[in-house]
Amino acid sequence: MGAIKTGEEREIFYSPTKIIFGLGAIKDLPNECKQLGKKPLIVTDSFMSKTEIVKDIMEILKSAGMEPGLYDGVVPEPPLESVDNGVKVALEGNYDVIVGVGGGSSMDTAKGVAIVTGNGGKVLDYVGMDQVPKPGLPKILIPTTAGTGSEVTRVFVVTDLNDNTKKVVYSAYNLSNVALIDPALTLGMPPSVTADTGMDALVHAIETYVAITATQFSDPFAEKAIRLISKYLPIATIKGENIEARYYMALAATLAGLAFASGGLGAVHALAYPLGTEYHMSHGRSNAIMLPYVMEYNLPGNFEKYAKIAEFMGEKVDNLSDSDAAIKSVEAVKRLQKNVGIPSRLRDYNIKKEDLSKLVEGGMKQARLFVPNPRNLSKEDVEKIYEMAY
Ligand code: NAD
Repeated sequence: MGAIKTGEEREIFYSPTKIIFGLGAIKDLPNECKQLGKKPLIVTDSFMSKTEIVKDIMEILKSAGMEPGLYDGVVPEPPLESVDNGVKVALEGNYDVIVGVGGGSSMDTAKGVAIVTGNGGKVLDYVGMDQVPKPGLPKILIPTTAGTGSEVTRVFVVTDLNDNTKKVVYSAYNLSNVALIDPALTLGMPPSVTADTGMDALVHAIETYVAITATQFSDPFAEKAIRLISKYLPIATIKGENIEARYYMALAATLAGLAFASGGLGAVHALAYPLGTEYHMSHGRSNAIMLPYVMEYNLPGNFEKYAKIAEFMGEKVDNLSDSDAAIKSVEAVKRLQKNVGIPSRLRDYNIKKEDLSKLVEGGMKQARLFVPNPRNLSKEDVEKIYEMAY
């Protein structure tokens, strides 16, 4: 049981207006779209726009009498321009509903396009907490990876290439009107994208579960996500056509998204961000690498919950003390990493030891994420964690 909140503390749960989940759910898109607007703009990346997924979406919208537009200028880990260029397309074409299709990069860009088109200005104007004055255009978010949970969160992340940092826009107006999750859309993900994005979902669930900001709403979602990911991620990675594994990974990613949207994140994200900006590593991979090292450091901050994580991941913890069981959660994560083919040390990625100071500097810039973390971190602690990860 979580601690009872007293005094001014509140438990807040954010979620989209509507979540539609199931195999074939994409067929519901025209009906959902019509309820929100007349002229949808599909926002995606240039790889996805050539796949049958986006072609089929364009077709079903046309068959329903709509004239969908396409903006496929999303760049992975989207820079500010990915959003601002999309806004120009939305304004010039008078589009009135945004449909984000793809991984977190496409869905985040779609959120940005919806917000900036409806509010004016540029995406940088809205960075930070609750800086968005109006709802913006309505939006439907359709994930094709099983990882970020962006379809259900109230944030989007953009990369500012001027100072090489990730900037986050937090606003309840980022919540989608409809999150449309069809696990069949994830069937085509190659093994490495499956593994990276799946580990990203695990990081969301674990970071939220142990955060000091975890709530009674976030805990059950996080628990279910951890259980599903431990069971199904290896199968989804090595046998991508296994529909059961894809189904439960899609579910797990959305549940993990719902968990962290309200429960907060922690130091894994803070220390992973500089790997993305300095080495152009994918968001999921950088999170996956840092996860076991941050967990090891964090254990004394919440032995009880790390012990639970070990249990959720199938470790035998009967008759063990919480502190002994907690160590098993780190072992379970390392084993999962190995089973899905993710090398776990920074040196495996051609990162030079003398570059660690740059990572420390980048990690410290994200110190806001240390607040919900179950154990405090000083600069020396951050150095030690990167050294362990090396
Ligand atoms: P991504 O969107 O960058 O996609 C990775 C690659 O996979 C791309 O090349 C894409 O074209 C490809 N891809 C996507 N779906 C596919 C499919 N079904 N088949 C084959 N290829 C496919 O990766 P991601 O990990 O989903 O998203 C990462 C981004 O999400 C980062 O920018 C990160 O900051 C952001 N993020 C946002 C939130 C949030 O709550 N808003 C949470 C976590 C991460």
